[in-house]
Amino acid sequence: MLTCFIYHFYAGVRAGGGIGDELESPYGDDLEYARMLYDISFFFFVIVILLAIMQGLIIDAFGELRDQQESATEKLESSCFVCDIGKETFDRMPRGFEIHTTKEHNFANYLFFLQHLVNKDETEYTGQETYVREKYDNRDWEFFPVGECFVKQYEDQLLQS
Ligand SMILES: [Zn+2]
Repeated sequence: MLTCFIYHFYAGVRAGGGIGDELESPYGDDLEYARMLYDISFFFFVIVILLAIMQGLIIDAFGELRDQQESATEKLESSCFVCDIGKETFDRMPRGFEIHTTKEHNFANYLFFLQHLVNKDETEYTGQETYVREKYDNRDWEFFPVGECFVKQYEDQLLQS
């Protein structure tokens, strides 16, 4: 009974995994049980634990990437990338959030403008271009109108008068 149990435990649990597949059969050897213990411990430490750790790391890494992407998408959908004003503010105004992010504050236009500055000769810069180029070279993003936009300023003026 014990021999049967040991055989099943050794050959069954290990099935198709572990160093025992490659080494010669332990049956009848002087160190038969020690060999079985060694093969089984390889199965547990390498096949079960190590692979589980590696799979866990991989799954965690992908999960983290997905979370990052989701939070970035959520941020883009809930507020303007350029001025950081929330969607709800623009949805109270006539033109709405969609128009604001595609026409008024399209972040691609900021990219095009920076590329335009890179391509343009510095001696031909206008005042505003010089200002933005200096800020950009210092990686100072102050030229982004954070918390400000013409629509909001216009609305504020309407409320005041
Ligand atoms: Zn904006």
